[in-house]
Amino acid sequence: MLLDDNKAWAAAKVAEDPDFFKNLSDIQTPEFLWIGCSDSRVPANEITNTQPGEIFVHRNVANLVINTDVNLLSVLDYAVNYLNVKHVIVCGHYGCGGIKASMTKDDYKQVLNMWLRNIKDVYRLHREELDGIADEEARTDRLTELNVQEQIMNLSKTSIIQRAWKKENRPDLHGWVYGLKDGIIKPVFEMKAGTHIDPLYEYDDL
Ligand SMILES: [Zn+2]
Repeated sequence: MLLDDNKAWAAAKVAEDPDFFKNLSDIQTPEFLWIGCSDSRVPANEITNTQPGEIFVHRNVANLVINTDVNLLSVLDYAVNYLNVKHVIVCGHYGCGGIKASMTKDDYKQVLNMWLRNIKDVYRLHREELDGIADEEARTDRLTELNVQEQIMNLSKTSIIQRAWKKENRPDLHGWVYGLKDGIIKPVFEMKAGTHIDPLYEYDDL
């Protein structure tokens, strides 16, 4: 099924533009790194109406940036230092199962508990604001936004980002949330290259 669909897709692309794959295989110079949720309803290229070759993508449950995640850090290193991306986007989405799960007391057992703990930590940092929101959906939506903000801050704490900021004044960091109900992306937090952060996390010998 998927393989048949793939053949049909490739044929349609070639019918549209005979050089489509030739042009794509020659270059990969995306300007964007996308860190998004694994959710099947949030495909980076489709919702931004971009083509293969335009966005370098990493996805995990609830779009987290964890400073011991070798997978994410390798993607970040490659995107920033070899592809020279100008923008890094962390894109969450309303209705995120990972965010919802983190707000319950359910035991999701090993591994998932470990992963979701990071979102519980975001809740704790913003407990006062979040506990003040009576409506459950509104509270979940707000945690989704704050989670994206926190992941942008996690990016800024890495030496990979700080070194690129210092040496090349890029990339800008963008925190977005995608709406499953209307398809619209809402920008919720931004850090321009060179932004000063809590000195505790700033390296001065980059
Ligand atoms: Zn999600």
